[in-house]
Amino acid sequence: KEIVVSGIRPTGYLHLGNYFGAIRNYIRMQEEFNCYFFVADWHSLTTHPDPKDLPGNVMRVLAENIASGLDPEKVSLYVQSDIPEIAELYLLMNTLAYIGELEKVPTFKDKVRTQPQNVNAGLLTYPVLMSVDILIQRAVKVPVGKDQGQHLEMARDFAQRFNKRYGNLFPEPEAFNYGDNLIRIPSLTGEGKMSKSENEMATLYLADEDDQILKKVKKAKTDSGTGEPGAPMPESVSNLIDLMKLVSTEDVVKFYQEAWNNQTIRFGDMKNQLGEDMVKFIAPIREKAKDLQQNTDYLRKVIKAGAEKARANAAQTLQEARKLIGINYY
Ligand code: ATP
Repeated sequence: KEIVVSGIRPTGYLHLGNYFGAIRNYIRMQEEFNCYFFVADWHSLTTHPDPKDLPGNVMRVLAENIASGLDPEKVSLYVQSDIPEIAELYLLMNTLAYIGELEKVPTFKDKVRTQPQNVNAGLLTYPVLMSVDILIQRAVKVPVGKDQGQHLEMARDFAQRFNKRYGNLFPEPEAFNYGDNLIRIPSLTGEGKMSKSENEMATLYLADEDDQILKKVKKAKTDSGTGEPGAPMPESVSNLIDLMKLVSTEDVVKFYQEAWNNQTIRFGDMKNQLGEDMVKFIAPIREKAKDLQQNTDYLRKVIKAGAEKARANAAQTLQEARKLIGINYY
């Protein structure tokens, strides 16, 4: 079976973007592939989270993944920091990554702009650590949202570079989504994507209560356009239609698409419908995740078993990497 790796940072509450960009694929892939899914706690440290918050955030991300349908019996579900082999391969791989290419990464440039007081070296080498998360399991498929596409290109570059210098070890991993194009769920204001750590009102979380969901959808931006039948759909409206495609029936989607085309659309009705369908989608996941979070013993058991499998595989890759590099003295 082909190997799959993907991770989510414990930087806050999971949202629809995480679900449709990543988790939805995990759930399908667990039936066909050899899957390694992890909570990327080391990656979250670049923003200096409060140490008091970290364990709870990690447990919640685990609970929300399982509540969404991930089966710990079918995949290896673990926490990044339980696999120290990743840290060693990261050190080795850093010698093959160039400062110039790392400085050019758009997510790094964004951070330089938005948090100039904390441009730490961990942010710069983030793509190296991410590559190692993937390469150490020798994964070939990586289910991620569109925002991670470029990081995957870098993972392929690093794999190639290592293979060329030291000998063939790593397959080149590809970003993956069922249905080909990588997904990007825009924020409800239309500015940027939904994300864990930005603009609460513009992001629908898997932990949102029903009234919060309805309120957020109601406040979503809609432009009325020109009023001419057949006028092109403004992005704010097509964003809502896209969300409908994810949670509403085909008939509902068709109805509102046609209502736009002949300009009979009523945005209030449309948002009520979308809000209700969103509640139907989110509420069961939210409730299940709440229960699971009470059961920390179970979650601990899951990550312990997950780490055991992930570590065994990682240790093998690291051993081969060391040998190829010449760290081979006994
Ligand atoms: P943060 O707000 O801390 O940057 P994030 O919400 O962007 O977090 P990550 O932990 O960086 O989430 O990413 C987890 C997975 O979710 C990745 O595969 C990423 O591509 C995907 N993802 C995140 N946001 C979206 C989105 N809006 N649309 C589609 N996929 C997304």
